[in-house]
Amino acid sequence: MSNDLVRVIGGPQNYAWGKLGSNSSVARFAHASDPQNVIIDESLPYAEYWMGTHPKVPTTLSTNGEKLSDLISSNPEKYLSKSIMEKFNLKNSLPFLFKVLSIEKVLSIQSHPDKKLAEQLRLKDPEHYPDDNHKPEMAIAITDFEAFCGFKPLETIKDHLLNIKEFSSLIGDETTQIFINNPSKENLKLVFSKVMNSNDDDLIKYSNSLVLKAKENPSLYGETLSDLILRLNDQFPNDIGLFCGCLMLNHCILKTGEAMFLQACEPHAYISGDIIECMAASDNVIRSGFTPKFKDVETLISSLTYSTNNVDEQKLNPANFERGNGDAIFNLYDPPIDEFSVLQVKFDKKGKANCKGINGPSIIIVTEGNGIISNNDENKLDVFTGAVFFVAPNVELNIETNDSLVLYRAYCEA
Ligand SMILES: [Zn+2]
Repeated sequence: MSNDLVRVIGGPQNYAWGKLGSNSSVARFAHASDPQNVIIDESLPYAEYWMGTHPKVPTTLSTNGEKLSDLISSNPEKYLSKSIMEKFNLKNSLPFLFKVLSIEKVLSIQSHPDKKLAEQLRLKDPEHYPDDNHKPEMAIAITDFEAFCGFKPLETIKDHLLNIKEFSSLIGDETTQIFINNPSKENLKLVFSKVMNSNDDDLIKYSNSLVLKAKENPSLYGETLSDLILRLNDQFPNDIGLFCGCLMLNHCILKTGEAMFLQACEPHAYISGDIIECMAASDNVIRSGFTPKFKDVETLISSLTYSTNNVDEQKLNPANFERGNGDAIFNLYDPPIDEFSVLQVKFDKKGKANCKGINGPSIIIVTEGNGIISNNDENKLDVFTGAVFFVAPNVELNIETNDSLVLYRAYCEA
Protein backbone atom coordinates (compact mmCIF):
# COMPACT_ATOMS: atom_id res chain seq x y z
CA MET A 1 0.00 0.00 0.00
CA SER A 2 1.22 3.47 -0.80
CA ASN A 3 2.00 5.86 2.03
CA ASP A 4 2.24 8.90 -0.24
CA LEU A 5 -0.93 10.10 1.43
CA VAL A 6 -1.74 8.45 4.75
CA ARG A 7 -3.95 9.28 7.71
CA VAL A 8 -1.92 9.66 10.90
CA ILE A 9 -2.66 10.11 14.61
CA GLY A 10 -1.02 12.81 16.74
CA GLY A 11 -0.88 13.02 20.53
CA PRO A 12 -2.60 15.28 23.08
CA GLN A 13 -0.75 16.92 25.99
CA ASN A 14 -2.61 17.71 29.22
CA TYR A 15 -0.74 20.81 30.44
CA ALA A 16 -2.53 22.71 33.22
CA TRP A 17 -3.19 25.82 31.07
CA GLY A 18 -5.33 23.95 28.53
CA LYS A 19 -9.09 24.22 28.07
CA LEU A 20 -11.09 21.61 29.97
CA GLY A 21 -12.63 18.52 28.37
CA SER A 22 -14.65 18.89 25.20
CA ASN A 23 -14.40 22.69 25.36
CA SER A 24 -10.91 22.11 23.98
CA SER A 25 -10.35 21.74 20.22
CA VAL A 26 -7.37 19.58 21.16
CA ALA A 27 -9.61 17.10 22.98
CA ARG A 28 -12.20 17.01 20.20
CA PHE A 29 -9.62 16.59 17.43
CA ALA A 30 -7.68 13.95 19.38
CA HIS A 31 -10.85 11.98 20.06
CA ALA A 32 -12.04 12.20 16.45
CA SER A 33 -8.65 10.97 15.23
CA ASP A 34 -8.42 8.07 17.68
CA PRO A 35 -11.85 7.40 19.28
CA GLN A 36 -10.82 4.08 20.86
CA ASN A 37 -7.84 5.43 22.74
CA VAL A 38 -8.74 9.04 23.46
CA ILE A 39 -11.84 9.19 25.68
CA ILE A 40 -12.41 12.80 26.71
CA ASP A 41 -12.25 13.36 30.46
CA GLU A 42 -14.26 16.53 31.16
CA SER A 43 -12.20 17.31 34.26
CA LEU A 44 -8.84 17.26 32.43
CA PRO A 45 -7.17 20.12 30.55
CA TYR A 46 -6.30 19.37 26.92
CA ALA A 47 -3.64 21.92 25.99
CA GLU A 48 -1.73 20.77 22.92
CA TYR A 49 -2.05 18.29 20.07
CA TRP A 50 1.29 17.40 18.51
CA MET A 51 1.71 16.31 14.91
CA GLY A 52 5.18 15.39 13.71
CA THR A 53 8.22 13.36 14.58
CA HIS A 54 9.15 14.69 18.03
CA PRO A 55 10.20 11.60 20.05
CA LYS A 56 8.26 12.77 23.13
CA VAL A 57 4.88 12.45 21.36
CA PRO A 58 5.36 10.39 18.20
CA THR A 59 2.73 10.61 15.50
CA THR A 60 1.69 7.19 14.20
CA LEU A 61 0.08 5.81 11.05
CA SER A 62 -3.66 5.07 11.45
CA THR A 63 -3.27 2.00 9.26
CA ASN A 64 -0.75 -0.03 11.28
CA GLY A 65 0.43 2.06 14.27
CA GLU A 66 3.91 2.53 12.81
CA LYS A 67 5.67 5.70 13.90
CA LEU A 68 5.81 8.42 11.27
CA SER A 69 9.53 8.80 12.03
CA ASP A 70 10.04 5.10 11.19
CA LEU A 71 8.16 5.47 7.91
CA ILE A 72 10.37 8.44 7.04
CA SER A 73 13.60 6.66 7.97
CA SER A 74 12.57 3.68 5.80
CA ASN A 75 13.01 5.89 2.75
CA PRO A 76 14.01 9.45 3.62
CA GLU A 77 14.58 10.46 0.01
CA LYS A 78 10.99 9.57 -0.81
CA TYR A 79 9.37 10.96 2.35
CA LEU A 80 11.52 14.06 3.00
CA SER A 81 13.08 14.73 -0.43
CA LYS A 82 16.80 14.85 -1.03
CA SER A 83 16.97 18.64 -0.79
CA ILE A 84 15.30 18.72 2.65
CA MET A 85 17.60 15.94 3.93
CA GLU A 86 20.66 17.88 2.84
CA LYS A 87 19.53 21.34 3.83
CA PHE A 88 18.51 20.41 7.41
CA ASN A 89 20.72 17.33 7.86
CA LEU A 90 17.72 15.06 8.54
CA LYS A 91 17.10 11.31 8.09
CA ASN A 92 13.99 10.41 10.08
CA SER A 93 12.40 13.62 11.26
CA LEU A 94 10.58 16.66 9.96
CA PRO A 95 12.14 20.14 10.18
CA PHE A 96 8.97 21.44 11.85
CA LEU A 97 6.51 20.50 14.60
CA PHE A 98 2.83 21.19 13.93
CA LYS A 99 0.39 21.70 16.81
CA VAL A 100 -3.11 22.68 17.87
CA LEU A 101 -3.29 24.66 21.13
CA SER A 102 -6.42 25.28 23.27
CA ILE A 103 -5.55 27.94 25.82
CA GLU A 104 -7.56 28.65 28.98
CA LYS A 105 -4.81 30.28 31.07
CA VAL A 106 -1.90 32.50 30.06
CA LEU A 107 1.31 30.71 29.09
CA SER A 108 4.69 31.85 30.35
CA ILE A 109 6.16 35.05 28.99
CA GLN A 110 9.02 33.81 26.88
CA SER A 111 11.32 34.33 23.96
CA HIS A 112 13.27 31.97 21.75
CA PRO A 113 16.95 32.33 20.91
CA ASP A 114 18.29 32.82 17.41
CA LYS A 115 20.73 30.18 16.12
CA LYS A 116 23.85 31.86 17.48
CA LEU A 117 22.42 32.37 20.98
CA ALA A 118 20.99 28.82 21.00
CA GLU A 119 24.50 27.42 20.42
CA GLN A 120 25.93 29.51 23.28
CA LEU A 121 23.10 28.56 25.68
CA ARG A 122 23.44 24.87 24.89
CA LEU A 123 27.16 24.98 25.74
CA LYS A 124 26.55 26.91 28.96
CA ASP A 125 23.38 25.20 30.26
CA PRO A 126 22.44 22.00 28.39
CA GLU A 127 19.85 21.03 31.02
CA HIS A 128 17.63 24.04 30.29
CA TYR A 129 18.64 24.51 26.65
CA PRO A 130 18.56 21.00 25.17
CA ASP A 131 19.42 21.75 21.53
CA ASP A 132 21.29 24.31 19.49
CA ASN A 133 18.52 25.23 17.09
CA HIS A 134 16.46 28.40 16.81
CA LYS A 135 12.70 28.13 17.31
CA PRO A 136 10.67 30.49 15.17
CA GLU A 137 6.93 30.05 15.80
CA MET A 138 3.79 31.02 13.96
CA ALA A 139 0.25 31.05 15.37
CA ILE A 140 -2.95 31.06 13.30
CA ALA A 141 -6.19 31.68 15.19
CA ILE A 142 -8.98 29.10 14.81
CA THR A 143 -11.15 30.88 17.42
CA ASP A 144 -10.83 34.42 18.81
CA PHE A 145 -7.33 34.50 20.25
CA GLU A 146 -5.24 36.92 22.32
CA ALA A 147 -1.53 37.07 23.02
CA PHE A 148 1.27 39.29 24.20
CA CYS A 149 3.66 40.00 21.38
CA GLY A 150 6.63 42.40 21.34
CA PHE A 151 7.07 45.57 23.39
CA LYS A 152 4.47 48.33 23.30
CA PRO A 153 5.48 51.53 21.52
CA LEU A 154 7.89 53.64 23.62
CA GLU A 155 5.34 56.45 23.95
CA THR A 156 2.74 54.06 25.39
CA ILE A 157 5.20 52.80 27.98
CA LYS A 158 6.05 56.40 28.84
CA ASP A 159 2.32 57.13 29.30
CA HIS A 160 1.96 54.12 31.58
CA LEU A 161 4.93 55.29 33.67
CA LEU A 162 3.40 58.75 33.97
CA ASN A 163 -0.11 57.51 34.79
CA ILE A 164 0.36 54.26 36.69
CA LYS A 165 2.02 55.06 40.00
CA GLU A 166 2.55 51.38 40.83
CA PHE A 167 4.64 50.92 37.68
CA SER A 168 6.91 53.92 38.34
CA SER A 169 7.19 53.00 42.03
CA LEU A 170 8.25 49.45 41.18
CA ILE A 171 11.18 50.62 39.07
CA GLY A 172 11.99 53.70 41.22
CA ASP A 173 12.08 57.44 40.52
CA GLU A 174 15.53 57.49 38.98
CA THR A 175 14.81 54.93 36.24
CA THR A 176 11.37 56.45 35.65
CA GLN A 177 12.93 59.88 35.04
CA ILE A 178 15.61 58.48 32.74
CA PHE A 179 12.96 56.81 30.57
CA ILE A 180 10.53 59.73 30.56
CA ASN A 181 13.27 62.14 29.53
CA ASN A 182 14.51 59.81 26.80
CA PRO A 183 12.23 56.93 25.78
CA SER A 184 14.79 54.90 23.80
CA LYS A 185 15.54 51.24 23.16
CA GLU A 186 18.45 51.32 25.66
CA ASN A 187 16.25 52.83 28.34
CA LEU A 188 13.48 50.34 27.62
CA LYS A 189 16.00 47.61 28.41
CA LEU A 190 16.81 49.43 31.65
CA VAL A 191 13.11 49.62 32.63
CA PHE A 192 12.53 45.96 31.74
CA SER A 193 15.60 44.92 33.72
CA LYS A 194 14.41 46.92 36.78
CA VAL A 195 10.97 45.28 36.57
CA MET A 196 12.41 41.79 36.24
CA ASN A 197 14.77 42.31 39.18
CA SER A 198 12.28 43.97 41.53
CA ASN A 199 12.08 42.44 45.01
CA ASP A 200 9.17 40.33 46.19
CA ASP A 201 7.89 42.77 48.84
CA ASP A 202 7.63 45.59 46.31
CA LEU A 203 6.02 43.30 43.78
CA ILE A 204 3.30 42.20 46.21
CA LYS A 205 2.67 45.74 47.45
CA TYR A 206 2.44 47.37 44.02
CA SER A 207 0.61 44.54 42.28
CA ASN A 208 -2.05 44.52 45.04
CA SER A 209 -2.55 48.23 44.52
CA LEU A 210 -2.58 47.88 40.70
CA VAL A 211 -5.21 45.13 40.88
CA LEU A 212 -7.35 47.01 43.40
CA LYS A 213 -7.48 50.11 41.19
CA ALA A 214 -8.26 48.04 38.10
CA LYS A 215 -11.16 46.50 40.00
CA GLU A 216 -12.56 49.67 41.57
CA ASN A 217 -12.00 52.08 38.72
CA PRO A 218 -11.56 50.18 35.41
CA SER A 219 -11.62 53.34 33.29
CA LEU A 220 -8.44 54.55 35.00
CA TYR A 221 -6.27 52.25 32.86
CA GLY A 222 -8.89 51.67 30.16
CA GLU A 223 -11.43 48.85 30.32
CA THR A 224 -9.41 46.41 28.20
CA LEU A 225 -6.20 46.75 30.19
CA SER A 226 -8.05 46.63 33.53
CA ASP A 227 -9.91 43.49 32.47
CA LEU A 228 -6.64 41.88 31.39
CA ILE A 229 -4.92 42.74 34.68
CA LEU A 230 -7.80 41.25 36.69
CA ARG A 231 -8.05 38.08 34.63
CA LEU A 232 -4.32 37.37 34.71
CA ASN A 233 -4.07 38.17 38.41
CA ASP A 234 -6.75 35.54 39.06
CA GLN A 235 -4.60 33.01 37.21
CA PHE A 236 -1.21 34.10 38.63
CA PRO A 237 -1.72 36.33 41.71
CA ASN A 238 0.92 39.06 42.23
CA ASP A 239 2.99 37.81 39.30
CA ILE A 240 5.72 39.91 37.72
CA GLY A 241 3.88 39.32 34.42
CA LEU A 242 1.30 41.95 35.48
CA PHE A 243 4.06 44.52 34.98
CA CYS A 244 6.42 43.05 32.37
CA GLY A 245 3.44 41.62 30.40
CA CYS A 246 0.27 43.70 30.85
CA LEU A 247 2.06 47.07 31.07
CA MET A 248 5.01 46.51 28.72
CA LEU A 249 3.96 44.13 25.93
CA ASN A 250 1.49 44.58 23.08
CA HIS A 251 -1.90 42.94 23.67
CA CYS A 252 -2.65 41.38 20.24
CA ILE A 253 -6.11 40.14 19.36
CA LEU A 254 -6.54 37.83 16.37
CA LYS A 255 -9.75 36.80 14.65
CA THR A 256 -10.14 33.33 13.12
CA GLY A 257 -7.74 33.00 10.18
CA GLU A 258 -5.42 35.81 11.32
CA ALA A 259 -1.81 34.89 12.03
CA MET A 260 1.24 36.16 13.82
CA PHE A 261 4.86 35.18 13.38
CA LEU A 262 7.18 35.40 16.38
CA GLN A 263 10.70 36.45 15.45
CA ALA A 264 13.67 35.21 17.46
CA CYS A 265 14.32 37.15 20.66
CA GLU A 266 10.87 38.80 20.79
CA PRO A 267 8.98 38.49 24.09
CA HIS A 268 5.55 36.87 23.80
CA ALA A 269 2.90 34.85 25.64
CA TYR A 270 -0.33 33.28 24.48
CA ILE A 271 -3.25 34.37 26.67
CA SER A 272 -6.45 32.65 25.48
CA GLY A 273 -8.12 30.97 22.52
CA ASP A 274 -7.43 28.12 20.10
CA ILE A 275 -4.71 28.20 17.46
CA ILE A 276 -2.82 26.19 14.92
CA GLU A 277 0.87 26.55 15.70
CA CYS A 278 3.90 25.65 13.64
CA MET A 279 7.48 25.86 14.86
CA ALA A 280 10.97 24.75 13.96
CA ALA A 281 11.89 21.49 15.68
CA SER A 282 13.49 22.76 18.90
CA ASP A 283 12.73 22.99 22.63
CA ASN A 284 14.56 26.25 23.33
CA VAL A 285 12.47 28.58 25.49
CA ILE A 286 13.71 31.46 27.68
CA ARG A 287 11.01 32.07 30.31
CA SER A 288 10.37 34.94 32.66
CA GLY A 289 6.82 35.42 33.94
CA PHE A 290 3.46 33.68 34.49
CA THR A 291 5.27 30.39 35.00
CA PRO A 292 6.28 27.98 37.75
CA LYS A 293 9.09 26.71 35.50
CA PHE A 294 12.76 27.69 35.35
CA LYS A 295 13.15 31.44 34.75
CA ASP A 296 16.28 32.76 33.09
CA VAL A 297 15.85 36.46 33.72
CA GLU A 298 19.40 37.53 32.87
CA THR A 299 19.44 35.72 29.52
CA LEU A 300 16.05 37.15 28.66
CA ILE A 301 17.07 40.71 29.53
CA SER A 302 20.33 40.53 27.60
CA SER A 303 18.97 38.78 24.50
CA LEU A 304 15.78 40.66 23.63
CA THR A 305 15.87 42.99 20.64
CA TYR A 306 13.70 45.69 22.32
CA SER A 307 12.08 46.52 19.03
CA THR A 308 8.73 48.23 19.51
CA ASN A 309 6.22 47.80 16.72
CA ASN A 310 2.54 48.45 17.01
CA VAL A 311 0.08 45.59 17.22
CA ASP A 312 -0.79 45.46 13.52
CA GLU A 313 2.84 45.02 12.52
CA GLN A 314 2.98 41.77 14.51
CA LYS A 315 0.42 40.16 12.21
CA LEU A 316 1.39 38.08 9.20
CA ASN A 317 -0.85 38.64 6.19
CA PRO A 318 -1.62 35.60 4.02
CA ALA A 319 -0.46 35.47 0.40
CA ASN A 320 -1.92 33.68 -2.63
CA PHE A 321 -0.88 30.08 -3.23
CA GLU A 322 -0.19 29.65 -6.93
CA ARG A 323 -0.45 25.85 -7.02
CA GLY A 324 -4.07 25.56 -5.85
CA ASN A 325 -7.05 25.42 -8.23
CA GLY A 326 -10.77 24.91 -8.02
CA ASP A 327 -13.54 25.96 -5.64
CA ALA A 328 -11.41 26.45 -2.52
CA ILE A 329 -9.68 29.60 -1.26
CA PHE A 330 -5.94 29.04 -0.70
CA ASN A 331 -4.23 31.30 1.85
CA LEU A 332 -0.49 30.91 2.32
CA TYR A 333 1.11 31.96 5.62
CA ASP A 334 4.75 32.18 4.66
CA PRO A 335 7.05 33.49 7.40
CA PRO A 336 10.62 34.63 6.59
CA ILE A 337 12.29 31.37 7.67
CA ASP A 338 13.12 28.09 5.88
CA GLU A 339 11.66 25.43 8.19
CA PHE A 340 7.95 25.77 7.43
CA SER A 341 5.03 27.49 5.72
CA VAL A 342 1.35 26.86 6.45
CA LEU A 343 -1.34 26.73 3.81
CA GLN A 344 -5.02 27.22 4.65
CA VAL A 345 -7.48 25.56 2.25
CA LYS A 346 -11.04 26.74 2.76
CA PHE A 347 -14.33 25.81 1.08
CA ASP A 348 -17.34 27.99 1.88
CA LYS A 349 -19.68 25.47 0.25
CA LYS A 350 -19.77 22.21 -1.75
CA GLY A 351 -16.89 22.00 -4.21
CA LYS A 352 -13.68 20.42 -5.52
CA ALA A 353 -10.11 21.62 -5.50
CA ASN A 354 -6.71 20.46 -6.64
CA CYS A 355 -3.34 21.17 -5.10
CA LYS A 356 -0.16 20.59 -7.12
CA GLY A 357 2.73 18.73 -5.51
CA ILE A 358 4.98 20.42 -2.98
CA ASN A 359 8.68 19.56 -3.05
CA GLY A 360 8.89 18.51 0.60
CA PRO A 361 6.93 16.70 3.34
CA SER A 362 3.67 18.06 4.74
CA ILE A 363 1.11 17.45 7.47
CA ILE A 364 -2.56 18.36 7.15
CA ILE A 365 -5.11 18.88 9.91
CA VAL A 366 -8.80 19.37 9.23
CA THR A 367 -10.32 21.92 11.62
CA GLU A 368 -13.84 22.05 10.18
CA GLY A 369 -16.02 19.92 7.89
CA ASN A 370 -16.06 16.60 6.03
CA GLY A 371 -15.12 15.36 2.59
CA ILE A 372 -12.72 13.19 0.60
CA ILE A 373 -9.01 13.62 -0.06
CA SER A 374 -7.15 11.62 -2.71
CA ASN A 375 -3.86 11.46 -4.53
CA ASN A 376 -5.05 8.97 -7.15
CA ASP A 377 -8.11 6.85 -7.79
CA GLU A 378 -7.05 3.97 -5.55
CA ASN A 379 -6.22 6.07 -2.52
CA LYS A 380 -9.31 7.99 -1.41
CA LEU A 381 -9.47 8.87 2.29
CA ASP A 382 -12.27 10.27 4.43
CA VAL A 383 -11.80 13.84 5.60
CA PHE A 384 -13.41 14.80 8.93
CA THR A 385 -12.89 17.42 11.64
CA GLY A 386 -9.76 16.45 13.56
CA ALA A 387 -8.36 14.16 10.85
CA VAL A 388 -4.60 14.43 10.26
CA PHE A 389 -2.70 13.32 7.16
CA PHE A 390 0.93 12.96 6.16
CA VAL A 391 1.69 13.79 2.53
CA ALA A 392 4.95 12.78 0.84
CA PRO A 393 6.80 15.26 -1.41
CA ASN A 394 5.52 15.96 -4.93
CA VAL A 395 2.12 14.32 -4.43
CA GLU A 396 -0.77 16.07 -6.15
CA LEU A 397 -3.93 16.20 -4.02
CA ASN A 398 -7.65 16.38 -4.83
CA ILE A 399 -10.09 17.48 -2.17
CA GLU A 400 -13.87 17.50 -2.36
CA THR A 401 -16.64 18.36 0.06
CA ASN A 402 -20.43 18.69 0.19
CA ASP A 403 -20.32 21.62 2.60
CA SER A 404 -17.88 24.08 4.16
CA LEU A 405 -14.43 22.67 4.97
CA VAL A 406 -11.25 24.13 6.44
CA LEU A 407 -7.87 22.47 6.62
CA TYR A 408 -4.34 23.61 7.42
CA ARG A 409 -1.26 22.13 5.77
CA ALA A 410 2.23 22.67 7.21
CA TYR A 411 5.06 21.98 4.81
CA CYS A 412 8.71 22.53 4.21
CA GLU A 413 10.10 23.00 0.74
CA ALA A 414 13.71 23.35 -0.29
ZN1 LIG B 1 6.98 30.78 22.16
